Amino acid sequence: MLDVAKALNDERGKASIHPCHVNRASEIGHPCLEYLRLARVAWDKRLAPDPVLASIFYEGRLTERDAVAMLNTLGFDVFEQQRSGVIKGRNNEPLVTWHLDWRMRAKDNGEVVAVEHKRLSPFVWPKLDTPEDFFNSDRVHVRKWPAQLQVYLLGAENEKGLMLLRNAWTGVYKQIDFQLDYAYAEGLLKKAEQVNAAVEAEQPLPKLEEAAACFRCDFRHVCAPAIMGDALVVGSDDFESWLVKQDGLKAAIAETGAAEIEKEKKALDDRIKAYIAANGGRVITKSYLAELKATNRKATPATSYDRLVVQKVNEDG
Ligand code: SF4
Repeated sequence: MLDVAKALNDERGKASIHPCHVNRASEIGHPCLEYLRLARVAWDKRLAPDPVLASIFYEGRLTERDAVAMLNTLGFDVFEQQRSGVIKGRNNEPLVTWHLDWRMRAKDNGEVVAVEHKRLSPFVWPKLDTPEDFFNSDRVHVRKWPAQLQVYLLGAENEKGLMLLRNAWTGVYKQIDFQLDYAYAEGLLKKAEQVNAAVEAEQPLPKLEEAAACFRCDFRHVCAPAIMGDALVVGSDDFESWLVKQDGLKAAIAETGAAEIEKEKKALDDRIKAYIAANGGRVITKSYLAELKATNRKATPATSYDRLVVQKVNEDG
């Protein structure tokens, strides 16, 4: 039988890491200064998105094209798609590069707005209704977006912008309007200067050390922040594949309840536990944090055992 699904998944799941020698608008809003430095000096060590996340990004690009085609059909004037530029500092040094999705002109009054298109999980989409909601999000990548848009507005000399948010489940859109905030944008440029200086001096910058950010950080294995605990080990690709398989087996058990799949999962669980135990009790991979947690069994006499806890750490927004 032709494995059509595999062919599509393999193509959609391709991910590559690109060299990064300047600060990028899409990153400059990251709340961790050390992350911004590592994005420059350790770009080749960045964890690539796993195939599922790469496929989600692919979907984002598709839906963006779909939105532009529809706006064109509706008669909107869409222009400067994928225009890029660089904001330079006092000595002509590059501070931040930017790459906007598109600009468009309103039909009625000719007003020009810069547009950033985002496709969001149906869990995050309802939580974003005002510019403040982005800053207060528990997802670090969402907190970066207002900065991205502000750099576009500054770079393209455009006073108005909007975040066009598509619900990944329903395809329904909403927009959040933004105004160029010079003070905030200036602060971003100062941050870029600080990163440039640290890169030049080969000196680290302060670490954020925030669980929500660090456990999903593409540089967690390079940075190894104290918040992750001393015993944290980065698991091998093989170990990651066991966890992916475990997810598949869980889904198959939920669907079929088949005893032989239960047995296969039990054997896999034991292998995963042994690996974690041999690696200090906590192992992180591209997509998972797997731990053994001492747990008391409510029985007489009381006993304790190591419970396997696996959580996804690399999620879509
Ligand atoms: S792991 Fe945490 S502290 Fe380290 S670079 Fe990433 S966000 Fe910053």
